[in-house]
Amino acid sequence: MSDAEPLSAVFQRLIANYGPISLLHYMGESNARYYADKDPLGSAGDFITAPEISQIFGELLGLWLADIWMRAGSPAPVHYVEMGPGRGTLARDALRTMKRVGLDPQVHFVEGSQALRALQAQAVPQAQWHHDLGSVPTDAPLLVVGNEFLDALPVRQLVKTPGGWRERMVDWAGDRFRPVAGDKPMDAAVPDALKQAEEGTLLETCPGAAAVMHELAARLAAQGGAALLIDYGYAAPQTGSTLQALRAHTKVDPFAMPGEADLTCLVDFAILAEIAASEGAKWQGTVTQGNFLRALGIDMRAARLAEAAPHHADTIRRAKDRLINDDQMGTLFKVMGVTGPDWPQGAGF
Ligand code: SAH
Repeated sequence: MSDAEPLSAVFQRLIANYGPISLLHYMGESNARYYADKDPLGSAGDFITAPEISQIFGELLGLWLADIWMRAGSPAPVHYVEMGPGRGTLARDALRTMKRVGLDPQVHFVEGSQALRALQAQAVPQAQWHHDLGSVPTDAPLLVVGNEFLDALPVRQLVKTPGGWRERMVDWAGDRFRPVAGDKPMDAAVPDALKQAEEGTLLETCPGAAAVMHELAARLAAQGGAALLIDYGYAAPQTGSTLQALRAHTKVDPFAMPGEADLTCLVDFAILAEIAASEGAKWQGTVTQGNFLRALGIDMRAARLAEAAPHHADTIRRAKDRLINDDQMGTLFKVMGVTGPDWPQGAGF
């Protein structure tokens, strides 16, 4: 949409007419615009994700799903559902691996971006597309994957000011956007334990991620199935802003170029586990990506690939290290497992 009015102009007009907008609004509109018409993934884009680093990532997730599906009695039919599938790379690698062990599910992609839907159709032509989970079939168990999906959903931030808790808003300072405290009291929205928090304390919540987890867990409880959610995030509650922006593989000011950089926040896995349980689904655990992939045999799989293609051995080892090493994606990224209440315990949790 290169002919569309720049988002920063839209925001400036809105703020001039109605006052500061919420950070939730700012982040939601920015990412909708950001993802709408381009492919931000890969070395020529703004960021790179695990499935784009190595085929092993999708293969091992596919094996995890196939393993738990078999131990649940190989129910058929069954649906593979991926939320925010990017270029479709993870799905392609996972489906290829699942097929080898006799699992050939129907494929459903939850995707908002037209540009990415076109790429996904090349990778997985048989897929059906959805705007949200609402239209995904209710007739059979679901095998669900979401990699770096929840981190793109907009957050709301509350900040403690001398006058009490306020929502964090975005204002136009004449030459740039900047965060400011709103003027409406928000104390009622803050848990009791935080009401007396020190001035400057910041509480971040992601209503979109919570809503997705409510719906997903309710579906798993009713239909059966298993879900893996992978993202960078934290497993115990914390305060502070985690908002960041990435452009061309570099961190930039989240308020500098709305709609032109990828805005993300860390995922609060603690609250997601509570929500899953509240809907009657089984929380399998939340573990680091490094430990999860090691438990699924990434070392052996990488060694096999390197044997088959000795001249690529170095590349394969570097990609594996990137996925599991503590100073790379191994610790910051977490894998959360959720299943229907009667499904078996999955590998790696
Ligand atoms: N899972 C992929 C892509 C991650 S990028 C990978 O690992 O490479 C985030 C993905 O979520 C993109 O496909 C983006 O278009 C999609 N997305 C972001 N916000 C969304 C929303 N609100 N609804 C549907 N899809 C969304």
